[in-house]
Amino acid sequence: MRSYVKSTALALILLWLTLSAGCASNAPQTRSFQSMDTVMQLTVYGDESTTAAIEERITELDKKLSSTNVNSEIYRLNRDGSATLDELTADALEQSLSCCEASKGALDITVYPVVCEWGFISGDHHIPSQSTLNRLLKSVDYRRVKLRENTAELPKGTQIDLGATAKGFAADEARKLLLRDGCESAVLNLGGTVLAHGKKPDGSEWRIGIADPGNSADYMGTVSCADKITATSGSYERYFTGSDGKRYCHIIDPKSGMPADNGVESVTVISDSGVKSDSLSTALFVMGLDKATDYRRQRRDFELVILTSDKKALITPALAQSFQLKNEQYSKEVIRDW
Ligand code: ADP
Ligand code: MG
Repeated sequence: MRSYVKSTALALILLWLTLSAGCASNAPQTRSFQSMDTVMQLTVYGDESTTAAIEERITELDKKLSSTNVNSEIYRLNRDGSATLDELTADALEQSLSCCEASKGALDITVYPVVCEWGFISGDHHIPSQSTLNRLLKSVDYRRVKLRENTAELPKGTQIDLGATAKGFAADEARKLLLRDGCESAVLNLGGTVLAHGKKPDGSEWRIGIADPGNSADYMGTVSCADKITATSGSYERYFTGSDGKRYCHIIDPKSGMPADNGVESVTVISDSGVKSDSLSTALFVMGLDKATDYRRQRRDFELVILTSDKKALITPALAQSFQLKNEQYSKEVIRDW
């Protein structure tokens, strides 16, 4: 596990502390722990045993799904080219592959060797040569990952990483535990992927902060929601400045092998599914504004906030009331035909 902690996660946690303080007569169960390479914050208006079960499930998922943990199922699959997976891992892989398909390859879990080559896993950042990228791109294609029952197979040279979907999958799993235990009110911040379960105990909606790309320790606005999962992908989260003075972010366009660089600073997706929100925030970030806009026109089962480098906050009409701007440098624009 890498040791750094994402600033976005911290920003959202600060907001969570501010907004949850004093909102209920009964004190919530709260917990904070590191998992999936980030900080997780749980606020559960329910039993301590539910909060403990959620932490346990997320820790278990991290152990199974991490590409860097030598004992994980995904690590074994990448090393050996085939593996029999347990049910949870097979489910996460199957759902991730469906998201790759739904995004027409803007999300591609086999982009991992390219992410590694840029140094985003080791921390040894550098700009790869075009010939290295061309060689690595030959093994990038999620359609060649075979999953039959619980047995997965990868072609030689192909490796996978569920980093773009795992926190969403964890949010969906956590929600199952909240429902199992009859808990009606909780907000779980899983490193920037936020499950707003039910409403606050006072009946109002949760307010979720959207990180400010210019200062990700702060938030630029909030959205109110209930029973939704919010996920943000941003160029400011993990990046390095290359020897050419340019900034390179950790989200890679699987077609070119280059970090996405298209004038979009962050994409926030709000939907009923953690995997959908997490995968789409990454995929739409890769697509850029025009293709993301087209995509939203075709599939209307999610809401969207796109922040651009020219300081626009573009939102879907359903968010017109619930999205509140804090950083006045941004101008809010409702995209009517979304
Ligand atoms: P974060 O994990 O920082 O919240 P994302 O959910 O957008 O952000 O996932 C980004 C991670 O997914 C990267 O760190 C990388 O490991 C991996 N990744 C980068 N580009 C892609 C892509 N196009 N498709 C699938 N996974 C990607
Ligand atoms: Mg994601």
